[in-house]
Amino acid sequence: MSKIGFIGLGNMGGPMAANLVKAGHHVAGFDLAAPAKEGFKKAGGSLAKSAAAAVAEAEVVVTMLPAGPQVRQAYAAEGGILASAHKSALLIDSSTIDVDTARAVTKAAAEHGFEMLDAPVSGGVGGAAAGTLTFMCGGTDRAFERAKPVLEKMGKTIVHAGAAGNGQAAKICNNMMMAVAMVGVCEGFQLAEKLGLDLQKLFDISSKSSGQSWAMTNYCPAPGPVPTAPSNRDYQAGFTADMMLKDLKLAQQAAQSVSAVTPMGAEAAALFQFLVGSGFGPKDFSVMYRFLKSTR
Ligand code: NAD
Repeated sequence: MSKIGFIGLGNMGGPMAANLVKAGHHVAGFDLAAPAKEGFKKAGGSLAKSAAAAVAEAEVVVTMLPAGPQVRQAYAAEGGILASAHKSALLIDSSTIDVDTARAVTKAAAEHGFEMLDAPVSGGVGGAAAGTLTFMCGGTDRAFERAKPVLEKMGKTIVHAGAAGNGQAAKICNNMMMAVAMVGVCEGFQLAEKLGLDLQKLFDISSKSSGQSWAMTNYCPAPGPVPTAPSNRDYQAGFTADMMLKDLKLAQQAAQSVSAVTPMGAEAAALFQFLVGSGFGPKDFSVMYRFLKSTR
């Protein structure tokens, strides 16, 4: 079993670290927030006094932080991971961040003699708790093979997407496609309702027709057809509109940096910006359905 340093024990990192503890690893964790620390301690983790202390003995370091600036800081700041971890440690960043920061941090890690993998996840808080996350990994073959046994204790599907940064690229492309599909489903169900079509009938037809998508069959934004969907619990997240907006902005930033043409992604980003600006940020992102219905 490995010694693991885990930085960022929030909604995702907390249950992910708990699964590593459950698998028998020795996990030293650190977070800035008291509730995150408490949860980790309750799960049997060993709480460190600082990020540096959490990674000092680690064979593997995992970070699960909010966004790029926190990741840059955690790794590259004075007394950060690159200055404190043992050179033989494998570094894994599972936060969702921009591709450029992921590549820059990996480069800085390599200059300090470390192997590093970007390994963002899909599957949400439920997947983190159940250990069924999908990991999209960017980095060398060697870093991927070293990381796999650890990632397998937190996820079910572990994919090597290519070189450094490609894990983040896969994550934002996936979420941009999903957001565009979700807006389409919201529009279709809203139009159906206004045309007097029973929504269950539309679901029965479209879930078996060419309009089918994950956003509809697993996560139907209209209450009723999919009992487990957030639409049936007042759009309690799930995956918040705030998070979706963050990922859509990352996708737009990436698209601009390589001159990719993503008009629907841009439209989805603008719509989610409007949704969040209207106070729906903490709700599940499928609340777009209720929002579209309320704006005429
Ligand atoms: P969160 O805000 O619940 O957790 C982040 C944690 O990092 C917080 O507890 C915070 O105190 C801690 N933190 C911030 N800066 C720190 C620092 N310098 N040192 C130590 N701890 C620090 O967020 P989350 O929902 O766990 O998301 C984490 C990442 O996973 C994000 O990048 C998010 O986009 C991504 N993600 C989230 C979900 C989801 O459904 N929540 C799904 C997929 C991916």
